[in-house]
Amino acid sequence: MAASSPGARVLERPELGRLLEILKGRGYTVVGPTVREGAIVYDAISTIEELPAGWTDEQGPGTYRLKKRDDPALFGYVVGPHSWKKFLFPPEMRLFSARRTGASFRIEPPEGPPPRYAFLGVRACELAAIAVQDRVFMGGDRVDPTYQSRREGAFLIAVNCGQAGGTCFCVSMKTGPRARSGFDLVLTEILEEGRHEFVIESGSPEGSEVLAALGGREAAAPDHARVDRAEARAAGQMGREMETEGIRELLYRNLEHPRWDAVAARCLACANCTMACPTCFCSTVEDTSDLSGEHAERWRKWDSCFTMDFSYLHGGSLRSSTKARYRQWMTHKLGTWFDQFGTSGCVGCGRCITWCPVGIDLTEEARAIRASDEGQHHGKGH
Ligand code: SF4
Ligand code: SF4
Repeated sequence: MAASSPGARVLERPELGRLLEILKGRGYTVVGPTVREGAIVYDAISTIEELPAGWTDEQGPGTYRLKKRDDPALFGYVVGPHSWKKFLFPPEMRLFSARRTGASFRIEPPEGPPPRYAFLGVRACELAAIAVQDRVFMGGDRVDPTYQSRREGAFLIAVNCGQAGGTCFCVSMKTGPRARSGFDLVLTEILEEGRHEFVIESGSPEGSEVLAALGGREAAAPDHARVDRAEARAAGQMGREMETEGIRELLYRNLEHPRWDAVAARCLACANCTMACPTCFCSTVEDTSDLSGEHAERWRKWDSCFTMDFSYLHGGSLRSSTKARYRQWMTHKLGTWFDQFGTSGCVGCGRCITWCPVGIDLTEEARAIRASDEGQHHGKGH
């Protein structure tokens, strides 16, 4: 499908640098991909020189390695351990402080105005993950004010994937590899026939204003064709596949499948998968007080369904075995999430597979359960 934006433009690398200046001028803190300690992570950047030029990532179950590319691509990697959720839903956040005032307490609200982020390099699966978290944090009666203030102030610059990684399965989850909506601007990096250019399109009124302030030339039919080729290349390279047909019912009728014991024998209950997942949203609340009794604080921190404490009710933990915790995680992602939010909790980014220290792969687990679906066998017997 040809790029839809009639006002699409084509930038060269220096003009992309100007994009950062324009965003900073509009009051945004630009956050983008950058190399730190052997991984491509998301952090505040001031110039495009901080982008991971010439780097790519090789990923597999429990494996992540940076490698040099033979071209100067700025977005020639897939996704790393970080997701944008750490900026919209901070891993640790003070909810309030309480200070003693004589016989009473004064409650002090958290720090000042929320940051205004411009996210540079949001992949299609990550846009889908942000949309999932939008529903979780803002879609019901109870809106999370921290998430809402950060999310509503954010400017999203998507990047279409020109290649896929070894653990990607966004095509199966219908979330990528091309960004279709939910962004302010979308870039496609073109490295073909000696060109190094970026086709840039707008997806919002503010995106159009920023686009108008950039230089570049108007995109022509061959530029749109290059964007289409990049999409087709990435779609053809998916490292993984997930059969989603009836997956919720498949899991519901296999809650006692022997595969849960097999995966529990490998799972360390380390919670890495939930920390790396861009849609997981569980948190806990901790209160602290100083020794003088003058000052107390309440913090919200990321938590995980893999911790014993997370399902603790009076008398013990509801999910005391690793089997129960893995099953809870996977059936939530691929099953009960639909009941709760009307969508899958998995967008196919592959992070939980790459960052699992023992290489547990939910696509493989789902496939194994489907292959010996107990409900199906019973059905056949009738
Ligand atoms: S469950 Fe795994 S593949 Fe799915 S969105 Fe979370 S980290 Fe990505
Ligand atoms: S599935 Fe892997 S990453 Fe998740 S808790 Fe188990 S060992 Fe850790």
